[in-house]
Amino acid sequence: MREVRAGRGSLATEQVSSLDAAGRVLAEEITADRDYPPFPRSARDGFAIRAADAPGELRVIGEVRAGDVFPDMVTAGEAVEIMTGAPLPDGADAVVMVEHVTRGGDRINVQRSLKAGENYNARGIEAKHGSAVLSPGRRLGFAEIALLAMVGREAATVFKRPSVAILPTGDEIIEVGGLPESFQIRNSNAWSMAVQAARAGGEPRILPIARDNYESTRRLIEQGLEYDILLLSGGVSAGKYDIVERVLADLGAEFFFDRVLVQPGQPLVFGAVKGKFFFGLPGNPASTMVTFEVFARAAVELLSGAQEAPLPLLQAKLSKDVRHKTGLTRFLPAQVSPDGSTVTPEPWQGSGDVNSLARANAFLVTEPERESWAAGEMIRVLLK
Ligand code: AMP
Ligand code: MG
Repeated sequence: MREVRAGRGSLATEQVSSLDAAGRVLAEEITADRDYPPFPRSARDGFAIRAADAPGELRVIGEVRAGDVFPDMVTAGEAVEIMTGAPLPDGADAVVMVEHVTRGGDRINVQRSLKAGENYNARGIEAKHGSAVLSPGRRLGFAEIALLAMVGREAATVFKRPSVAILPTGDEIIEVGGLPESFQIRNSNAWSMAVQAARAGGEPRILPIARDNYESTRRLIEQGLEYDILLLSGGVSAGKYDIVERVLADLGAEFFFDRVLVQPGQPLVFGAVKGKFFFGLPGNPASTMVTFEVFARAAVELLSGAQEAPLPLLQAKLSKDVRHKTGLTRFLPAQVSPDGSTVTPEPWQGSGDVNSLARANAFLVTEPERESWAAGEMIRVLLK
């Protein structure tokens, strides 16, 4: 494969408190500081016994609760009452659930047979002392941060977030706080891109709006190339004033592709220039959002140190018929039911319909070769 000379080189790292590390990408290997569980841990409330003694009648010689240790051995014919989370006493090799015994005084009757190892977790079965529990490149969510807490790591080394330059273009675009004339459009793309870039692990910086002339576009693209990655919106279609590609070419850009067979978003541009990757996202709000999710998101995630950047795809049952023109993969705003089982296309007026995109919680993904799907058939869905 051809090597692309762009990116972040060796990624910078920083130490953060583990509680602040949610959403960040781990830059070090985390190992278990001891065996997990550190002792054979009962998974049930019941009685610790020797499996060979069941079924049968046993004598209860004491109890052990979580946070305690039973001081003696369990020998043949004996049982120790045990609570979930308590260490299994020496000599015992199984826990019989309290529901499966009858008790009278210090005697219990175990009604069923048991296998050694039942109803407790052996020491070290979840992780061995010194073994790797998290590897570099993992994005940290709630379970990973619980794992950091479990092994006593109050701080962790994570990759620094890549800086993401967001460059809107267009003569008709005005700042969100401005008062638009009838023919002007507020700069909503910069905001959706900023949110998407942050969600992908980047640190977005919205640049001033580039006007549809060479000087303005070139000046701001040059400014944008000071960041780790540059994302442009608009100016990549075939219109007379779509000059983004010309400016990038003059700066020596290598273009990896300048068209994708998806809708919305066909004129998407991806390349590298001056050691930085750039995406030219088509300016229609739906195109910008979809091409970010499907293409640019992965780039931002990988620059943030993540090992993988899979799309959140699933299958759901269509609630109504869907037809589309073949040739392109289409991403259509849709509503997945709360239980995730069915999906309904959201009414929409095309790529400018931000209202429909905001109502949707997902996109239907139609395959390019297939023309129609009937209600009740399964279809691919990209979660929003
Ligand atoms: P373009 O890709 O520049 O041809 O723009 C396509 C459509 O998207 C036009 O209707 C633009 O007005 C609209 N558009 C472009 N940039 C933005 C933006 N930053 N925010 C909202 N809409 C935009
Ligand atoms: Mg434009």
